[in-house]
Amino acid sequence: MRIGVLALQGDFIEHRQMLEALGVTAVEVRLPDQLAHLDGLIIPGGESTTIGKLAVMYGFMEPLRQFARTKGMWGTCAGMIFMAKDVGADQPLLGIMDIVVERNAFGRQVDSFEADLVVPALRDGETRPFPAVFIRAPKLVEAKGDARIMAALPDGTAVATQQGKWLATSFHPELTGDGRFHEYFLNLLKT
Ligand code: GLN
Repeated sequence: MRIGVLALQGDFIEHRQMLEALGVTAVEVRLPDQLAHLDGLIIPGGESTTIGKLAVMYGFMEPLRQFARTKGMWGTCAGMIFMAKDVGADQPLLGIMDIVVERNAFGRQVDSFEADLVVPALRDGETRPFPAVFIRAPKLVEAKGDARIMAALPDGTAVATQQGKWLATSFHPELTGDGRFHEYFLNLLKT
């Protein structure tokens, strides 16, 4: 399996390392041509406005939308924002997932935090919580259409969603030693 990680800005290296640890070929994608022959693509965390501007500049917008029509895609944090249809702000978005997202939604006092999440879809997800790292994270305000909520914080705030072969997470599974979210994405690509 060959998985791309969009390498315009953000923490793409950590995703690549996690994928390699799981035994798959990981490709840092810097030009649209590199999307060919990939089975799926991860859009990392970082700064969504920067990722968006660079994606426009490098001619990525339509190629990425076309890629997502038939392939799996997963956005973490800024990547989640970039995949959403509605973020209530004017910035370049792929706009493919039927989700409403609020940027920087956890307030200044808790810009970054960790939380143990119950994610039933993951291997041992009911019994072994997933350590989720939130860094100036977005909230999933609404999942519409066939987008499903995969996980929420104890106060009910949704933080992970799946719509067919697309995933979006508010947090950063690439920054923990727990590969189960990456594993879940890889299994999704095989279906
Ligand atoms: N706050 C960033 C944004 O709005 C996302 C932060 C992250 O990816 N860790 O794009």
